[in-house]
Amino acid sequence: MKSRWSDAEAQAFVARYAQQGVGEELALRVYTTRLLGGDPLLVLHGGGNSSVKTRQRDLLGDEIDVLCVKGSGWDMGDIEPAGLPAVRLRPLQRLRALQRLSDEDMVNAQRGNLLDSAAPNPSVETLLHAFLPQKFVDHTHSTAVLALIDQPDGETLARDVYDGAMGIVPYIMPGFALAKKAAEVFEQKPDVEGLILLKHGIFTFGDSARQAYERMIQMVTRAEARLQRGRRSVFAPARLPNAVAPATAVAPILRGLCAITNDRATGFAKRQILDFRATPDIMAYVNGAELQRYAQVGVVTPDHTLRTKNWPLILPAPEAHGLERWREQAAEAVAAYVARYHEYFERHKARPARPPKELDPLPRVALVPGVGLFGLGAAKKDAAIAADIALNTVITITDAEAIGRYDCVGEADMFDVEYWSLEQAKLGKSAEKPLARQVALVTGAASGIGLATAKALAQAGAEVALLDRDAPALAAAAKVVGATARAIPCDVTDASSLAAAIDGVVAAFGGLDIAVSNAGAAWQGRIGEVDDATLRRSFELNFFAHQSVAQHAVRIMRAQGTGGCLLFNVSKQAVNPGRDFGPYGLPKSAALALMKQYALDHGGEGIRANAVNADRIRSGLLTAEMIAERARARGLSEGSYMAGNLLRREVAAEDVAAAFVFLAQARTTTAATLTVDGGNIEASLR
Ligand code: ZN
Repeated sequence: MKSRWSDAEAQAFVARYAQQGVGEELALRVYTTRLLGGDPLLVLHGGGNSSVKTRQRDLLGDEIDVLCVKGSGWDMGDIEPAGLPAVRLRPLQRLRALQRLSDEDMVNAQRGNLLDSAAPNPSVETLLHAFLPQKFVDHTHSTAVLALIDQPDGETLARDVYDGAMGIVPYIMPGFALAKKAAEVFEQKPDVEGLILLKHGIFTFGDSARQAYERMIQMVTRAEARLQRGRRSVFAPARLPNAVAPATAVAPILRGLCAITNDRATGFAKRQILDFRATPDIMAYVNGAELQRYAQVGVVTPDHTLRTKNWPLILPAPEAHGLERWREQAAEAVAAYVARYHEYFERHKARPARPPKELDPLPRVALVPGVGLFGLGAAKKDAAIAADIALNTVITITDAEAIGRYDCVGEADMFDVEYWSLEQAKLGKSAEKPLARQVALVTGAASGIGLATAKALAQAGAEVALLDRDAPALAAAAKVVGATARAIPCDVTDASSLAAAIDGVVAAFGGLDIAVSNAGAAWQGRIGEVDDATLRRSFELNFFAHQSVAQHAVRIMRAQGTGGCLLFNVSKQAVNPGRDFGPYGLPKSAALALMKQYALDHGGEGIRANAVNADRIRSGLLTAEMIAERARARGLSEGSYMAGNLLRREVAAEDVAAAFVFLAQARTTTAATLTVDGGNIEASLR
């Protein structure tokens, strides 16, 4: 591993933060913390931490010794000075004299000594940083170091590789006891450059930010060099079917089986979002004949338990044309996983002082031979974190098996971390949004009603895929909708383009729960004279595309078995024909009937179908010329034409979006049409 320290960059950090009144030591602490946090082989998603002992002025102007230590909720890769809250150092150090310190008292002492009472909670490893005397202290969960020490003889290997340069600390879960033990190990040999925490990770320290950081790089490099020696080839492949089903066929089945609750009667399941990976490393790992052994040992560092649970779900390889049988096998594997989790909980639930509540027993990582790896989580972000950690696990265990045999802490230690109140606090407890855990697609999403609906669905918590023909506008639209929104260019009237786009939605999120079929365009012509080509073109977009989108959606919803929601944008033309608007109104009438047919034929599967009939929206559906023409025909100005309804209120795309979001949540409403037009008695439903 190479040092990425740069004098120029370091000076730039010092200069930049000086303008904000941040001292040089803290500025350099931010710089090297980011260097560590920017490398996934060192630090992943909130793992790892760092500190600097420095001096700051309190309110009275007195200079005091403080420990600036990583705060909970900050990521090392993009940390700012505010992510390293200052804690009074002396009171922390004095705690070492205690025999025992409860977690609650430890957290209270840490918070009570913050200079800024509004700062985030200092890291759970704060006392370890405080009890070591060095100015800069760095901690990572380096994959190379873990591959070395996650072995039955990990301690011997570490002593051999580090030859006295590092202190060796036995496994103790983070907190007061570990902090005391680490300080004792250091004091036995105060010339060490860092500490190896068996089955956990590595600390390095130094007088300067650069020294502590470069020691980390050197020590990780020593582990890497050892991993290159005497390697044997690992993971002899298992026999796989000749043709394996693609991830997009497997994902909806897996997603349905791993829903946390599945209340098909209401169609409201508590689902998970998926994140799929299939790198060469992952494929060698999941295709190994001994997968059941090495993948079921446990987490590479106990902190990961929180995001991945202790063990992944292992499924059989899915044959391309045997998915029904695979579904049964997968259901059995999930049931066995859940049973194992219950047993594990029962075995250890008496360990904490206060009996904990059992967490949901569903997996967060699934391994599928021949296919790859899935991360699962409440949102795309969580699923991606689980997958990132699972990928690091693959790298660590591959290296560990190449030089020996992978081993980790026992399940009691994993339980202690999984059910540790301080770890659970890291995940946050905010209430979920109404459409959280659901995947929505919106067609015609680059502008107007489609874009407004995509935004509203994302605000309600759904993961959103935006489909549209206009690729550049779509990319910009997705950025507005949210960080995890996907732009998938697609012509909904082209069968292969649509099929590829639907595959894209499943590849991105693992399935589909809400399909908003919105794309449409208005054609005009007197029905007795209009040419067939115009009428057929309109039917392709305003009827058949709705049918194709709905049919794809139903296929995925049925594979998931967790219900779903189809939403159609039908116009007021579906109910109240406009003169010379037959080419537009006829397919829209058919689309209204289509909605009812889906409600009828698929209600038994928990799939709801509803429609919104909107009118006079500035959405791009009606061109500016069309609006002007209609206003002229009625002798009205454009503005008063647009607001020419019972409420005399112009209808916005956001009003239509709100109706779609309402229908997506209306668990007992199906075959309904909701009118959003400011009031038009001719277009109202009888
Ligand atoms: Zn750690």
